[in-house]
Amino acid sequence: MDSNGTVKDVLPGILQHNVSNSTDPDSPSSPLSPIRNQLAQRRSFDADPLDKLLRKNKTWSASRISEDPEYFNRLCTQQAPEYLWIGCSDSRVPANAILGLEPGEVFVQRNVGNQATHTDLNCMSCLEYSVKELKVRNIILCGHYGCGAVRAALKMPSKTHNLVNCWISDIRECRNQHRAELMALPNLEAQTDRLCELNVLRQTFHVCTSPVVQSAWDRGQSLHIYGVIYSLKDGLIKKLVGPISKSGDFAHDQATFEQRGNSFVGYDSVDRERMVEELSPVGGSYRSRVDAVNAYINTMEVNNRIAQHVGWTEDFTATEAKSTVASAAAVAADVATLAVSAAH
Ligand SMILES: [Zn+2]
Repeated sequence: MDSNGTVKDVLPGILQHNVSNSTDPDSPSSPLSPIRNQLAQRRSFDADPLDKLLRKNKTWSASRISEDPEYFNRLCTQQAPEYLWIGCSDSRVPANAILGLEPGEVFVQRNVGNQATHTDLNCMSCLEYSVKELKVRNIILCGHYGCGAVRAALKMPSKTHNLVNCWISDIRECRNQHRAELMALPNLEAQTDRLCELNVLRQTFHVCTSPVVQSAWDRGQSLHIYGVIYSLKDGLIKKLVGPISKSGDFAHDQATFEQRGNSFVGYDSVDRERMVEELSPVGGSYRSRVDAVNAYINTMEVNNRIAQHVGWTEDFTATEAKSTVASAAAVAADVATLAVSAAH
């Protein structure tokens, strides 16, 4: 303390201050007054965003109960969604809202760029829980046009130091794989939108080849995978691929792999046009028929990639190993020959 007082002199004053305030809550120096002032300020300026949300939440809860008094009781005792949604964190693409689904109807995983890489423990845990425990019947991987994560994969220099740059590396790899196609497009917007679609196909493939989904199919579990894309411009969802519902028949996978080799089924623009033409009797707009043909071809291609992925068997590994052993033996023989000739 300074020369004007000692601890002994000052402490009773502080205690007295607190005692007097606690007995007079209306005093301006009361410890309650800052809280009261803050509340008054919020009431007048609506300064706390959470207050606004809590009020909306109360209204929502009350309206649900008034429509159906058992609504929350039912949700408490059961969760049985038919769908798992893997989508982008973008605030404009909320699963329940754009699908018109109620709470309890869709299990949701969202992250930046709607990715489903096998090293993402969050996404894979969510996938495992929804497939093994909730027994969802459909998995929907949804991208959206104009996605910022996808645009960053095209624009952000790879040396940029930030976590987002690390996070989007799988999308960047997708970009690299389709470089020629993307480079032929006229501008960044067109490239972004196409890469958004390609990213959906890639991430759908990751879902299909995840150990969780593969073993579910092996067990005979009914599980259908779709890849779709959402347009911010009109709020509509378009199917890009699916349903992929393979039983995980290993023999079939291997046969497909051997039959098709390492090349994908190729469909050039002429084939697509012909297929669109053949769909004419089905009706619908030209655009909808093009979309249907594209989804069909995408599904064939993703199925083919899955077959290649899971068709890689012990046989291939063994062949590889045999050739390695043979090479090692040959090297050993050469060394032995050299040693013998050196000895002479
Ligand atoms: Zn996005």
